[in-house]
Amino acid sequence: MTSVEDIKRLVLKPFQNHRQLSIKEADTLSLEILDLLSQSDCKDQSTLKYLANFLTVETYHDLIEERNLNKKCGYPLCNRCQNRIRDPYGGNATANRFLQQNNPYAYLSHYCSKFHYRCSQFYEVQLTNEALFVRIGVHLDDKIQGDVPKLQSVSLLEELIQGEELEEQNLISIVSGIGKLNIQSEEGAHGDEKEELEKDLSGWLSQIKIVENKDPHPMGDFFKDET
Ligand SMILES: [Zn+2]
Repeated sequence: MTSVEDIKRLVLKPFQNHRQLSIKEADTLSLEILDLLSQSDCKDQSTLKYLANFLTVETYHDLIEERNLNKKCGYPLCNRCQNRIRDPYGGNATANRFLQQNNPYAYLSHYCSKFHYRCSQFYEVQLTNEALFVRIGVHLDDKIQGDVPKLQSVSLLEELIQGEELEEQNLISIVSGIGKLNIQSEEGAHGDEKEELEKDLSGWLSQIKIVENKDPHPMGDFFKDET
């Protein structure tokens, strides 16, 4: 299993002598991340969140594909294999594409379960498409970096389901994530999938707990204007 420390030690260390990565270095770093996480799984939620600093949607898709080839569920936090390992369509790419698009259970070829399919979609829509080499300083260690780089703030679907309290900042990324999921399903999927996504979304939303005020007045807003 891979932890944040492992990523720093095994992948980032050789790149930490300067703040800005060249395009070539960024490519090498991406490949090493892919290599590491297609052969092992994230140790915990913080590792998956930290990983977002080094991924684009494109490299995340590559990662899912690589994990599937290694018989792993596409969601990097999972240690199971995908539900359907064998390609039932015998490698015919056209037939495959058709069936992937028209089979409501196609996600089982990539994930262990529908839950991890949703977790993965939810993670993906929060990834930035900014190229890695322009994300100045993300690869530096907290201890040695001068000014702190802007790290990606990502929320995981599990956190919502577990009913963890969320900071306002995370709520913003969730709402924008859900918005993007909706748009994605409008563009691509057929009616059934959209309906199912909406059902899942309303389920998730009912689980969210937000920390609005750390120390609310016991009588709520009633006494707000009194001094
Ligand atoms: Zn899984």
